[in-house]
Order: sequence, then structure tokens, then C-alpha cells
Amino acid sequence: MEYKQTGWKLDPDGRHITFTDGCGIGRVRLIGSRDLATRPIPAITRIRLIRRVDGYYAQFCIQAQRRVEHVPTGKQVGIDVGLKAFSTDSEGNTVENPCHYRKAEKRLKRLQRRLSHKQKKSKNRKKARQAVAYAHLKVQRQREDFARKQANALVTSHDLIAFEELQIRNMVRNRHLAKSIHDAGWGQFLLWVKYYAAMHTIPVIVVSPHYTSQECSTCGTLVKKTLSVRTHVCTACGVVLDRDHNAALNILQKALSTVGHTGCAASALVESLLSSRG
Ligand SMILES: [Zn+2]
Repeated sequence: MEYKQTGWKLDPDGRHITFTDGCGIGRVRLIGSRDLATRPIPAITRIRLIRRVDGYYAQFCIQAQRRVEHVPTGKQVGIDVGLKAFSTDSEGNTVENPCHYRKAEKRLKRLQRRLSHKQKKSKNRKKARQAVAYAHLKVQRQREDFARKQANALVTSHDLIAFEELQIRNMVRNRHLAKSIHDAGWGQFLLWVKYYAAMHTIPVIVVSPHYTSQECSTCGTLVKKTLSVRTHVCTACGVVLDRDHNAALNILQKALSTVGHTGCAASALVESLLSSRG
């Protein structure tokens, strides 16, 4: 349910909200970490009521401009996302895949089984159903938390980030990979990277994924390899690199060749990024 600027009233202490539109919610206490009392009320443009298994949430949309002074690091990075590692950067650093779903899978299956054995419409069935929903919610939150933290760390420590356009839809069609891909949550990760990058006003450049894993990042020779080949061995220049590291280097090179090395191109990109966000 969504409210604009009418239909609700916030107590002066910021701890209670009363819904005045007669839908029967009335006055409720707010719990949570945000201090609403210090905000001028007109800044709240919208309130969204969201029901989750563990309670009701009131989402306050506040007009604010979040800008962070980015401390230049002089570092530009290309990121390759994969299944073996969650991500590999152009420096060769890898972030391990957290596999939140896989780790919770046993527990989820057990809860699901327990639910299926409960009698229909019984109180215990309702409880069991809530337990399943809560376990799913927990996985979802872990994944989100991970994506956010990774994204923030990445943005804070670089001045430019290059990504490959993800073709998740095509990849998910491969049924063996589907579960792992959903589990990895790269889409979410990329969104958070864009979010933090806009806050820090640093550019995120998305390049097309053509040949990024096949080309040699050192000499540009095409070295064909299937998904199972984990190492890039160049037949022309002899360079040996981890497959994903090679791809990350290509992604960064591609990104730099599209914007040029000049700072003004990068800042123009930031401007367009910011204006597209409204
Ligand atoms: Zn080569």
C-alpha cells in the first residue's frame, strides 16, 4: 500500500505514525534505526507499507541528495563475474562465491518437508509455512547484504569500474547453471555498484561481452576455449593467466578504449549517469 503526502500523520517524536484515511490501521508505533523526528516532514514524499513474514515495514521515501566526497585512489578496475569465483578483477583478486542459497538449502528442504506433513488448515501448518517463508527471507537478506558490501568496497577503492554486460536471461536457460546464477545475485551486485558509484560520482562503464574471455589481454590474439578451460594460455605471446583474470583485463581495456583515457570523458559519463537517475 502506498501513501503520498496525505493520509498519514507522524507524531512529533517521530516514533509513531497515524493513518488517517480510515482504512483501519490507525496509530502504530515505529521501530527501527532511522531517526525521523529530525527530518522536516515535507521531505517525506511517499510512504510504502510492506508486509514481510517477520512483520510490517513502513518505507519512507525521503528527498535527499546523497553525495560522498570520493577520495581518489588512482585505480581503475575491470570486473569479471563468474561461477567459480563471485568476481575476479583485473588485478587478479578474486571474491569467493558466498552461495547463500546452497548453504541454506538443507535447512530449507527440511522445513519444506515439515510443512508438507502438517494437516491442512491447522495452526501448526501455518507456523511451518511461516518458518519456510522466514528462511527464504533470511537468504534473500544475506544476499542483499553481501552485494551491498562488495559494491561499496569496490567503489570506495577505485576511480573507474568496468563491467561486462550480463546476459543473465540467456545464461539461466542453461538449467544446470540456473540455480547457481540466481544464487550469485550479480544483477543485484551491479545495481548496487551503480548506486554507490553515482553517490561517489565515479564512472561505471558497461562493455559488450564479445570475446572478453577468448581474447588475449596481452596481445589480442583470439584463443578459443570452452567453459571448462579455466586457464588462458596464449598461443601467440605465451602469456598464462587465470581465465577470469584475463577476461577482467579485457573488460577494463575495452572500457578505457570507449571512454578514452581523458578525465573529461569520464566526468561527462558521470554527468549523464546522474542525470539519467533523475
Ligand atoms: Zn597473447
